[in-house]
Amino acid sequence: MSEKLSFVSPTANSPWGTYLSQVDRVVPYLGPLARWVETLKRPKRALIVDVPIEMDDGTIAHFEGYRVQHNMSRGPGKGGVRFHPDVTLEEVMALSAWMTIKTAAVNLPYGGAKGGIRVDPKKLSLQELEKITRRYTSEIGIIIGPHTDIPAPDVNTNGQIMAWMMDTYSMNVGGTATGVVTGKPLHLGGSLGRVKATGRGVFVTGREAARRLGMDLRGARIAVQGFGNVGSVAAELFAEAGAKIVAVQDHTGTIVNTNGLDLAQLIPVANKEGVVAFKSGGDIVPNEDFWNVACDILIPAALEGQITAERAQKTTAKLVLEGANGPTVPQADDILAERGVLVVPDVICNAGGVTVSYFEWVQDFSSFFWDEDEINVRLDRIMMNALNQIWDTADKHKITLRTATYAVACERILMARQERGLYP
Ligand code: GLU
Repeated sequence: MSEKLSFVSPTANSPWGTYLSQVDRVVPYLGPLARWVETLKRPKRALIVDVPIEMDDGTIAHFEGYRVQHNMSRGPGKGGVRFHPDVTLEEVMALSAWMTIKTAAVNLPYGGAKGGIRVDPKKLSLQELEKITRRYTSEIGIIIGPHTDIPAPDVNTNGQIMAWMMDTYSMNVGGTATGVVTGKPLHLGGSLGRVKATGRGVFVTGREAARRLGMDLRGARIAVQGFGNVGSVAAELFAEAGAKIVAVQDHTGTIVNTNGLDLAQLIPVANKEGVVAFKSGGDIVPNEDFWNVACDILIPAALEGQITAERAQKTTAKLVLEGANGPTVPQADDILAERGVLVVPDVICNAGGVTVSYFEWVQDFSSFFWDEDEINVRLDRIMMNALNQIWDTADKHKITLRTATYAVACERILMARQERGLYP
């Protein structure tokens, strides 16, 4: 009986299309809760805002911004804000839905939300970046708040942007609301360990997956796509464990070194100019060649839709760790499964970031801050418990880790939905 959504036309490989197919695959494992599944196939609320700013040259520019609250059955909305020229409502809907699944998979008391502005922040001055952030925050201020929806960093947003968001929201409500965003700088109610948390979670889940596969991390060859605070941190931790980072791709291009890239030298160069500037450390190759590089572990840590059917056929990896959200299209997922490649899905693999965001939010409310050891011990425990439970579910039903994660998460979400009941 439900009407189709009028404002989105997903294709099979688009982010929302990918998400819908992931939900369809879990339905047989939901039992009587399947009755509620349509809840997951539409956002609870989606806000589109105009973000006008005066540019440095005196012209007035308008940008389109979004905040989508996909589901709040288990708690306030939670999820990052992305600044990127390709951001669309459909993409933000999918990203918000993946947050719903992710927070439930690691059992945080949150729903899922996401925001974004369609803009290339690299083309903005610092002053323009501050203006666009503040105006966007003010526009979405009618639906965010420490108890309703808590933004955080995502692609191209960082602690400084969170500080401006916190300040703008606080000015508008007439107080200092540190709990309205997470990923803030340390002296503004930020948490130790937050910046590295997503990469750390990728490492913790990846190390456990490798152990279960019988793969020795010492000497394991790793290819990393995306070298921001997810890809570079995960790469560092795997290198410390003895692995070789044989290929890295970022927005500037691809660098390959079959003996292993020297990360201590690569990371500072990559942070400033991009990986291609580290010419002396490896060979610069065409971007498509990244997928042919012989490797044991592949870490997509950039954007959605990167592992296509063709690339899934090509990769020599035995293990894929999804640091990015939605990097694998459904057809590629099937090919990887048929080829015996284990995929640790985004909704558990990259959940370390939102987990430490949760710690930050709890610390803000209690005004009591933990040391980094406590953060990391708790993070590792939450990630390992969640992964073990998902693995048991996958073994029990003989399904992929992705469908098992959805089974665990969707049961929690839809149980909450059912217990709360429909209003009115
Ligand atoms: N943007 C991150 C993610 O995709 C973190 C979200 C958060 O901390 O709320 O999981």
